[in-house]
Amino acid sequence: MKIFFYVFLRFLLVSSFIQASNIKVINRVDESVNNLETLETINGHFISVNEISKLLSNRAPFVNNEREKIVLYVRDSRVKISANTSFILVDDRVFQLPTYCLWINGDLYIAAASFFEIIKRTILPGISFNKNNLTLELNIKEFNINSIKIAQKANGTILRIKTKEPFPEGNISSFFHENGWFYITVANSLVDTTELRKSDPKGVIKKIAADQLGNTSQLAFQMRTKVESHDIYQSKDPSEIVVSLRTRVTDDISRISKVRDRWKIDTIVLDAGHGGKDPGTMSKNGTMEKNIVLDIVKRVGLSLEKNTKMNVIYTREEDVFVPLWMRTKLANESNGKMFISVHANHSHNRSAYGFETYLLRPGKTQDAIEVASRENEVIKFEDKSDERYKNLSGENLIMATMAQSMFMKESEELASMIQQEMGKTVKSKNRGVKQAGFQVLIGASMPNVLIEVGFVSNANEERNLKNAKHRQDIAYAIYKAIVKFRYSREKYLSEN
Ligand SMILES: [Zn+2]
Repeated sequence: MKIFFYVFLRFLLVSSFIQASNIKVINRVDESVNNLETLETINGHFISVNEISKLLSNRAPFVNNEREKIVLYVRDSRVKISANTSFILVDDRVFQLPTYCLWINGDLYIAAASFFEIIKRTILPGISFNKNNLTLELNIKEFNINSIKIAQKANGTILRIKTKEPFPEGNISSFFHENGWFYITVANSLVDTTELRKSDPKGVIKKIAADQLGNTSQLAFQMRTKVESHDIYQSKDPSEIVVSLRTRVTDDISRISKVRDRWKIDTIVLDAGHGGKDPGTMSKNGTMEKNIVLDIVKRVGLSLEKNTKMNVIYTREEDVFVPLWMRTKLANESNGKMFISVHANHSHNRSAYGFETYLLRPGKTQDAIEVASRENEVIKFEDKSDERYKNLSGENLIMATMAQSMFMKESEELASMIQQEMGKTVKSKNRGVKQAGFQVLIGASMPNVLIEVGFVSNANEERNLKNAKHRQDIAYAIYKAIVKFRYSREKYLSEN
């Protein structure tokens, strides 16, 4: 009986009562105008689900001919429509239409006005249908801020904001308001507010809000506690805005005061890069990084021992291989107050020359990232390396940086003093202070930097680096910077 009724209804619809008419579709993004064919029946205008899909989705619908069912993919939602029922599903939510959907020749027809109303309410707020003049206006731009993931770590919270592609640096700004909210605004963006509001607050984040203000997206996060420091950067693959929020935990407070107590710079750790089976970078003539840097480090150490009362610890004093992890371990166990790793550089661009000092932080430039990945390659000489080292990208690097953030200011000062002093004495180019993810700096609980004293790949600089006078100039500059840094720290301590 039921089946007979449907067949009859379908007969009615596809025969005498049906008229074809058009809905005018105006796309407000590009102002294009199209027609969407409808079937006008006694029950109002019906539209083809396959045609709607072309309009609202960039993915083909799933059509089940046997069960007379079609699934539409609109944005991140699925809309399930079946023949001979007035119910449709938007994800897991059920909506009822005033009339049944009809299956005609491999396509479903659905009541236009109520369907558009449901889609507007659930997925696309930017559409509006006027059933009086049969006009559908589409104001749908693609979201480029899509979702948020929050992870809680031992010393802070990490937000990963999924974006369609990286934004120009200047488009993103962030600030803490005294009302306890942290705001991120992104110019020229469109945020999927529905999706963002769905995310679960975690860690230091109590509440999440997202708003679209014209062309600007504003994301707001209510903080549970005070955040001590934060870092924001964009990653490319996957495309994300990554924010790390470091909170002050009670543990840290006692640790900081302990650090203060034993702050006096009495022990310095000098780390000559590479050694033994690992030559470091090499020139065409066979000049090896490992030998140059060991000589410089020894010269620095000698000056310190001669002229100060500082205790100098070497991670290696000979041509031996020392794993990276052991270098930092040694530094921590010897109660070092400063860790200086000395390396020599290499570039495929043979004209590149000069000296630069690095801080442990997510790399800002491709050059810096390349230098770090070359220096980190040392690990391949080590046994069971994969167990000890984490892949130094994205989150791992941020966590490592966060763990060090209490030394960051000092490390920055030290780095800039080194560059300044080298600029005075070393006849080469000052390439400035840079940042990247160096494995050897991870875990050093003290201000730490990595110096690239010059390019072995540059013929002229190689000649200089082989010259003892030039190496002594470099060593002297590093020595001067250490002394200066210690002086400024001790002055600061006596004043505070
Ligand atoms: Zn090196």
